[in-house]
Amino acid sequence: GLSAGIVGLPNVGKSTIFNALTSGKAQSANYPFCTIDPNVGVVPVPDPRLGRIQRFIPTEKVIPAALEIVDIAGLVRGASKGEGLGNQFLANIRQVDAILHVVRCFQDEDVVHVDGGVDAMRDVETIETELMLADMDTLEKRMKRIGKMTDAESKTQMAAMNKAMGMLNESQWLAHADFTEREREALMPLFLLSMKEILYIANVHEDDLGGENEQVAKLRAHASEAQAGVVLISGKIESELADMDAEEAREFLHDLGMEEPGLDALTRETYRLLGLHSYFTAGKKEIRAWTVRVGAKAPEAAGVIHSDFERGFIRAEVFTLDELETHESEAEIRNQGLMRQEGKEYVVKDGDIMHFKFNV
Ligand code: GDP
Repeated sequence: GLSAGIVGLPNVGKSTIFNALTSGKAQSANYPFCTIDPNVGVVPVPDPRLGRIQRFIPTEKVIPAALEIVDIAGLVRGASKGEGLGNQFLANIRQVDAILHVVRCFQDEDVVHVDGGVDAMRDVETIETELMLADMDTLEKRMKRIGKMTDAESKTQMAAMNKAMGMLNESQWLAHADFTEREREALMPLFLLSMKEILYIANVHEDDLGGENEQVAKLRAHASEAQAGVVLISGKIESELADMDAEEAREFLHDLGMEEPGLDALTRETYRLLGLHSYFTAGKKEIRAWTVRVGAKAPEAAGVIHSDFERGFIRAEVFTLDELETHESEAEIRNQGLMRQEGKEYVVKDGDIMHFKFNV
């Protein structure tokens, strides 16, 4: 599955946020999600459309889409030179599809900051510098290895690496850098850390959830330049929410003037960051959200359920939630002749409700 890794300096709230994400009482009561490993958790992607479908299609269970979240502890200044858990840490980041960077924006005299005081931009630079230094090291090693080779493939990769190196020297994160498709492909096998998308999680004091503090404003400016997103979270509030049942949580959120837990926005943003969306299957046994790449065609979407569905794909029957809400049942949608028959070239849309016909 697709995964996102939580990174950040020590004491910024990573474990607090990871634990809240993976141990939510309200969610684990309803869904078969759990922590796979102390540092890896599977987190449901909240989707209000599931409940809307259920109003018209009674079912035994509702299963949301899921994301894998990895808590990657151990980054300190000097990691790229092997300080702390250095190499282990970097290897763990290499394996995730996107980076969730927790940045401390809350003041608390009882929580020591490793670099002396709260300064969001200094922290961001510390972390990103380590990751970019690690990439430069990766590039250097590869350049040394293939520098003298004369085949076309090596030459293409050399050129792309030189370009990447130049950008890293200017402290430019590579995820949105101006590479051609060919250059991007040539760099792909290197698994560069800075080619990954970043979402910043600003861990703020609960009083700052609604507005902006100075730290958050600076972080937002940096993020917007790097075309990255920012989500505001209070680690403290989220960990309290995670210990409540659904009813208590609703009241607590209401008292705080929040519409939903910050973590819900976080999972949704991560999903978007990864270029993913959902389609649904809906029947008596279960209503379920399935994850597909934005742009995936019907057979690929069917393959998410089972590889046989992709191999033997014949066609898909498709309707929308709007149609379901208007006509109130699948049978009525069929009666009205609104059930669409789609073939192999159909590009699945976010929110499609689908049945697949396939050969076994
Ligand atoms: P990590 O080292 O980044 O994993 O940080 P932890 O999650 O262990 O948090 C470090 C300390 O900060 C702990 O004592 C947490 O209780 C505290 N902490 C985490 N989030 C918040 C927050 O939003 N507000 C306050 N005041 N303290 C927090």
